[in-house]
Amino acid sequence: MTKKWKKEALHLWLTTNLSKSDIARSLGKPRTTVRDFLFRAEKEDYVQDVQHKSNVLVFDIETSPMIAYVWGLWKQNIPIDRIIQDWSIICFSAIWLGEEEVTSAWVDTGFAGTTELDVVRMMWELLDEADVVVAHNAKRFDVPKMNAKFIEYGLKEPSPYKVVDTLAIAKSRFKFTSNKLDYITQLFGHEGKHETNFQLWVDCMKGDREALMRMVEYCEQDVLELEKTYLKLRHWDKQHPNLAVFDEEDTLRCGTCLSEDLELLEGKRAVTSTSSYPVYRCKGCGKIQRDSKSSTTTLKRKNLLRNVQ
Ligand SMILES: [Zn+2]
Repeated sequence: MTKKWKKEALHLWLTTNLSKSDIARSLGKPRTTVRDFLFRAEKEDYVQDVQHKSNVLVFDIETSPMIAYVWGLWKQNIPIDRIIQDWSIICFSAIWLGEEEVTSAWVDTGFAGTTELDVVRMMWELLDEADVVVAHNAKRFDVPKMNAKFIEYGLKEPSPYKVVDTLAIAKSRFKFTSNKLDYITQLFGHEGKHETNFQLWVDCMKGDREALMRMVEYCEQDVLELEKTYLKLRHWDKQHPNLAVFDEEDTLRCGTCLSEDLELLEGKRAVTSTSSYPVYRCKGCGKIQRDSKSSTTTLKRKNLLRNVQ
């Protein structure tokens, strides 16, 4: 996933005294592109992510509401024969973790001739390629909503991927005032989501192209905020998939961010009913994890090796 120039830029940035402009010149890349990338890498701790291959897809979908005949506003139980128009996909945005480009697609039958099936297929391709997918409310909304569209259009199940739900992490590990992405991301000092209101959804459903473009922009901003929020939250996630199993290199790495920079926490042990294990903290993302071997092991040996080299 990672572009070669990014690896080279990072390598030069970490190992030489070259300025960002010098690095851009030596790589033959536009100065602003390289500067922006390195600035982001420093600021958001992207360094570890982009140095290693990680098929982590961060995504968000926007759907239209259903339209139905109703008899009242309060506690309605609406039979399916009162549905005038079922929900549908408006657009999606997705970004591979550590990459710069956001991929978006939207249903635009009038102008561009892009059908819902076209958009659903694109989303299917991305999910099929991913090892891990990240979304806010992924488990209860984005993933099952996409699955509903896949089966509706006769598509097979995508190849297996793990799901990280930032809403579930927020709910299980913290007591935030609000678990909405907009609240959490601003709490972390990020820009926050773009402002919007329900009228935008109504205008999109009427086929207003300008509204549709604003919706896509809104979705893209959402994904960028989600990516930053995920990077903050991920080391708190007790259920985070072990990314090291997707990595072919046989070295001791952090399962959450693939960093090899692990620090043994002297005097700390993770205790189970039968054994105790050494504990270490990842210096890349902060994750605390235990060694897979219960005695003094790999890490200590690795540290010793480092000392003698
Ligand atoms: Zn880590």
